[in-house]
Amino acid sequence: MMSLRFYNTMTRSLEEFKPIKPGEVRMYTCGPTVYAPAHVGNYRAYTFEDILRRYLIYKGYRVTQVMNITDIDDKTIRDSSAKGITLKEHTQPLIDMFFEDIDRLNIQRAEYYPAATEHIDEMVAMVKKLLERGHAYRSGDSIYYKISTFPKYGSLSHMKIEELMAGARIDSDEYEKETASDFALWKGWTEKDGAVFWETSLGKGRPGWHIECSAMSKKYLGEQFDIHTGGVDNIFPHHENEIAQSEGAAGKKFVNYWLHNAHLIVESKKMAKSEGNFFTVQDLVDQGHDPLAIRFVLLSTHYRQQLNFTMDGLEAAKAAITRLRDFKSNVESATGSGENKAVNEAIEKAVKGFEEGLDNDLNISPSIAAVFDFVREINSIVADKGLSDSDREEVLKILRKFDSVLGVIFVEESEIEADIEEMIQKRLEARKNKDFQTADKIRDELLSRGIILEDTPSGTKWKRKIS
Ligand SMILES: [Zn+2]
Repeated sequence: MMSLRFYNTMTRSLEEFKPIKPGEVRMYTCGPTVYAPAHVGNYRAYTFEDILRRYLIYKGYRVTQVMNITDIDDKTIRDSSAKGITLKEHTQPLIDMFFEDIDRLNIQRAEYYPAATEHIDEMVAMVKKLLERGHAYRSGDSIYYKISTFPKYGSLSHMKIEELMAGARIDSDEYEKETASDFALWKGWTEKDGAVFWETSLGKGRPGWHIECSAMSKKYLGEQFDIHTGGVDNIFPHHENEIAQSEGAAGKKFVNYWLHNAHLIVESKKMAKSEGNFFTVQDLVDQGHDPLAIRFVLLSTHYRQQLNFTMDGLEAAKAAITRLRDFKSNVESATGSGENKAVNEAIEKAVKGFEEGLDNDLNISPSIAAVFDFVREINSIVADKGLSDSDREEVLKILRKFDSVLGVIFVEESEIEADIEEMIQKRLEARKNKDFQTADKIRDELLSRGIILEDTPSGTKWKRKIS
């Protein structure tokens, strides 16, 4: 069997994945900077990380994932002060929106979502360590990382350190490769920062953006961990700087595998407010789109390829999900007797195809194709001979396993089912108390939702009304 392989940006090659501790994976994901609502392009990154997380779990790993919330940087300060509100007043509604979006896109929650403003002490400690170890220096009220003290600088983005401007300094959190230079770890307070500052042993000021991720990953994952992810735009300067900070402070290797996702374009054009193709998840939901169809579009292109997000693609995704859900219903209602060898063969083939794709750097297209081949084969078996109870259970079990990664088939259903079960329980209680009026009301309400109840000697069963 082929093993799990990832394309490592650091080595620019496909590498077999070997975790530091057998059976366990620790990973860090650069999360949202909450200065404006996240757009659908941002969720490409979070959906890729969700597939990565879910597939690691599928493979039997225990995953500890950290995703930071950048609730302080140049942009959050700029936008909150433009609005005349506090940093927190500006960021909190955006944080709430972010969690609402990831829930409806069925992105599994990480184990930790540390907010930068709650980890200032850890950042100060790391800056102090960098000063002690000679990687940082003070200039005025600010403290900078001296990149010439870290010979490995540039290794992730494959830049040569000689090409960088020696001794030049940059204060802004984001900058281009051409301006690579010493960057700010700690920014001394200026009037522009208004009420945003911390009084610390480094002085009055605030952290630079890059130190946030180094300090928070260390706190939750330790000095060294397995996987770090982000968008390609994070490679430079952000991840390059994270490496310089973390390795400069700890004196050892920071991360073993660097995985970066490519961008998303909309209708073949760069997403931009001026193009009118700038969508949030909420915009698309308001237009009547199913969030899980959005999820399916985002996950179905290999993460290292540019994704062209189109309305046609969204419709096709909706049709694909419907097909998968119809398949599930078809299997659930299938009956028959006798074991069918063809069922086992179809399962084996599907599992092989599904895993071969994802094992190969999460190449999901062949995996999805394997699932749809499986749908076709089993549907034809059902039409031909039906399914025995045990075959039906096996098919559903494997479909559930595939969906533990895809996350589009059982989602809504499970919520609906839980709701129906709860109403059935309430009806049973009402009947026990001889409150037949309430019991009938519940039955009618379910009927209006297309759910038919059947009272049988072994309890109340329900099925969908076929229209
Ligand atoms: Zn980061």
